[in-house]
Amino acid sequence: MKTTKICVIACVALVASALPSQNLMTARADVFGPYSADSGPFADNYIHTWCEGLANYIPIWRDSMQDAMDYLDAQTVMTTGSPQTCNNSTDIWYDVYGSDVLGYYVRGLSVCRIDLTSEGVCGSAVLAMNRDLLTTYMDRRKTSCHEIGHTVGLAHSSQLTSTSDCMISGNYTFTFLNSHHKDHINSRY
Ligand SMILES: [Zn+2]
Repeated sequence: MKTTKICVIACVALVASALPSQNLMTARADVFGPYSADSGPFADNYIHTWCEGLANYIPIWRDSMQDAMDYLDAQTVMTTGSPQTCNNSTDIWYDVYGSDVLGYYVRGLSVCRIDLTSEGVCGSAVLAMNRDLLTTYMDRRKTSCHEIGHTVGLAHSSQLTSTSDCMISGNYTFTFLNSHHKDHINSRY
């Protein structure tokens, strides 16, 4: 019988209690994959494709994701592109839901939608965005960047170490990966 391991990385709006106290000055171990408590699974390779899972989304829902994927392509070794037809080799199935489905504080989430390998590699993930919470382009762009980051193995940033680090959790409009996270990606793929 086939068993399915599912990983869920949910990003909630109220995360202050999950962040380390500001006087914690020692360096925290930076987790990178493969599906730890805080990090996403590894992608299967450097080609990171995506599709629109439920429908062809209108521009406000497609453009932020496209721009975030283009950013990953431009800033790392990953190669992305335009949406393709969804199948089990598509790395990200992109979808939009409301709070009734995702939860009232969940801005976005990523879930491995097929079997995770024993090495923590996920060949195809769902990336879901919350239409009720992400009301501006910058909200959507940040959450796209954040969830895409999880799909290549990144963990949350524990504190704001750069001025625009999208791997921080919560209600920000940051749209870039910090250089440490880019190094993780570039050394793996
Ligand atoms: Zn997250």
